[in-house]
Amino acid sequence: MELACLDLEGVLIPEIWIGFAEKTGIDALRATTRDIPDYDELMQQRLRLLQEHNLGLPDIQEVIATMSPMEGALDFVNWLKERFQLIILSDTFYEFSHPLMRQLNFPTLFCHRLVADDSGAIVDYKLRQKDPKRQCVIAFHGLNFRVIAAGDSYNDTTMLGEADAGILFRAPDNVIEEFPQFPAVNSYDELRQKFIEASNRELSL
Ligand SMILES: [Mg+2]
Repeated sequence: MELACLDLEGVLIPEIWIGFAEKTGIDALRATTRDIPDYDELMQQRLRLLQEHNLGLPDIQEVIATMSPMEGALDFVNWLKERFQLIILSDTFYEFSHPLMRQLNFPTLFCHRLVADDSGAIVDYKLRQKDPKRQCVIAFHGLNFRVIAAGDSYNDTTMLGEADAGILFRAPDNVIEEFPQFPAVNSYDELRQKFIEASNRELSL
């Protein structure tokens, strides 16, 4: 049996924090795992900025409700689900992703949780575990699944390395240069082709 594991932001949906930074005009909130590889350092910076600007979960959810998946993402998800069991492995939070996951027909999502107080202020976040994407692939191997994975950023590279086949999708140049062992593609058509090539079954477009 083969599983397809996909990153979410940058692969199927836009970066939520960037969309939020644009609406609020807080430039420092544009930073993502592409800029700061240490995820805890990145999240502490985000929570600090939200507190400084007195912004809470409802403000962020308001922005997310206006966002859409990337063009072609839903078709790609549907294509993948007909050929693989699909699991989204993301460093986003269930509280953020819900309106966008609805537009993708709610594929299975493993991610993290935010902790908000009664006023909506985000006071903490709960990572499910350390190096979660890689740990998922290790667990899937323990269940005798073969794993083909795709992602766009630093926080995907341990998942890609652990998978039986790893693919970079719309990754920035610095990630492509640092991880030349992974094929890098930019369109969903190319990504479909890479999944077909990586599969040990006879699949077609
Ligand atoms: Mg990403």
